[in-house]
Formats: sequence, structure tokens, C-alpha cells
Amino acid sequence: MRAQVAVSGGKGGTGKSTVAVNLALALADVASKSVTLADLDVEAPNDHLLLGVALGEGTPVEQFLPRFNYGLCTRCRKCAEVCEEHAIITLRDGTPFLMPNLCSGCRACEIVCPVPGAIEESSKVIGWIHETNTPHGLRLITGLLKEGEERSMPLVVEAKKRAVETAGDLLVIDTAAGTGNTVSSAIEGSDLLIAVTEPTPLGLHDTELILRLGSLMKLRMWVVINRSDLGDAEAVRNLARRYGAEVVAEIPYSETLLESYVSGRPVVVHRRDCEEARKFFEIAERVLEVV
Ligand code: SF4
Ligand code: SF4
Repeated sequence: MRAQVAVSGGKGGTGKSTVAVNLALALADVASKSVTLADLDVEAPNDHLLLGVALGEGTPVEQFLPRFNYGLCTRCRKCAEVCEEHAIITLRDGTPFLMPNLCSGCRACEIVCPVPGAIEESSKVIGWIHETNTPHGLRLITGLLKEGEERSMPLVVEAKKRAVETAGDLLVIDTAAGTGNTVSSAIEGSDLLIAVTEPTPLGLHDTELILRLGSLMKLRMWVVINRSDLGDAEAVRNLARRYGAEVVAEIPYSETLLESYVSGRPVVVHRRDCEEARKFFEIAERVLEVV
């Protein structure tokens, strides 16, 4: 049976992707299993950069858009009234106009329209799903939102679906930062949620939100404290305890990790014997004990 591990974190720069990438590589190494990494931070995916690989072939993801047939439309405004995204504006006489960037493709307008054929089917490309086989034996699925597109949820849902359907033994999900809808959708169904944080006031605040979300979803939760020597790590430990989460690793500020981030050479592959790589291998061993 496939196991799913989600790696999440607060505001950008906490080390979330570094943990997700190195953990996925360490799992592929120690478990000798087929591991897929899904980068669902679709507005700014960067796992491929950390892995030092170019994105593989991309498949466009399309979303429903209404197209008005003005020859049939009776200008009743029902479509505009039902649209929660305010993607349809109407002229004084009720003629509807669509603002495509705001449309989420929910089809509510199509459902309420009382005139058959007044709303026709159209679509737009909202992004791409890239599938990349890395030289490290890891399969990478990357969701990439089209520039200017404001709704990332449909792409996160599609990219996750592709990852879940095609993953082998283990699926590691790198979510977007924060606790928005796209994050809950990304972590849903996980056997384990790993919250990556820094011991700063902002880090504590963001981590509490993630742990609260994980508790509501009744997930097993772990915490990784990155740059653990640059703040109040004890406060993070106390917070984790309050939510029944275990602190599984504390990683002090590391020039080695910074260098590996910039050069796209993950430590678990290129610096296997360093202290930081050892910690990722330890987390991987622990993961395999619980999933
Ligand atoms: S599909 Fe949904 S979001 Fe798009 S215009 Fe219709 S009601 Fe609005
Ligand atoms: S609901 Fe249908 S008929 Fe009414 S304004 Fe919209 S498109 Fe026209």
C-alpha cells in the first residue's frame, strides 16, 4: 500500500523544500522503494532547482470557462448573482461579461442559467503538470501555475491527483507555505505531516496554525526545527508538545545546507557523510517505522 507524507511550513524560507527534497531522496535510498516527490507549491515550485534537474515534459491543465451566447441570453443576471468569485459583471441591461482570471471553473453559472445553450463550454490553460525522472532514482511531479493566473486550487487538485494515481510505494508532498485551502487539499489523506519551522516569533505563529490544521485533520504530526540555534527552540518544543507533535530533528544554521540549496546538489546525495545528511537519513528511518 502506498504511504503519503506531507511536508509543510510557514512563510517562505523556513527550509520546507530542503527537508522535502532531502527526505524523499533519503527514503529512496534507505528503503529501496519507488518514491515520488510532488511539488504542490504551484505558484513557485522549486524542488527541481534543489535537485539540480530541468523540468521534464509538461502537460497542460485546462479549466472550464463559460462562454455566453448572446443570441440566446435573456440578460436575467442569474449567472452573475451566483458567481462567488465575482468573475461575471453585467451591463445595465443585464448583459453578462466574464473576467477569465477570476473564474474558478465551478460551473455554478452554467447550472443556474435558465436558458439552455445561453452558456456554452469553453476552457483555458491554468498551468502545467511536469513529470521528471531524476538521476537520483526519484520521480518528481511538479505543478506549475500559469503566470497571471489567480486561482491555484484547481491545479493543486489535478497535480495531486496525478501524483496519487501514479506514485509507487511512497509519496512525499511538498505543500505551499501557510495554511490556505491549497495546503489542506495537499496534505489531505497523509499518514504523516511534517511541519518545518524556525524558532522565531513568526515561525512559532505559523507552526501553530499548521499544527492546528493537522490536529483538525487528525494527522500524526512531527516537527523539524530548522536553524534551531538562531532563536527559542524550547518554545517550539513546548508548542509541539501541546499539539501532541514530536520534534524529530533540530538542524542548526548550516552553510553546508545553504550551499547545497544554491548549487542544486542535495546533501543526502553529494555530502552523505555530513551531519545534516545524517539527520535526514535518521528522519527517513523514522518515517519508515510509522508509515
Ligand atoms: S464557472 Fe464559477 S467562477 Fe466561473 S464564472 Fe461561472 S460561477 Fe463564476
Ligand atoms: S444566467 Fe444565462 S440567460 Fe441569464 S444572464 Fe446569465 S447567461 Fe444570460
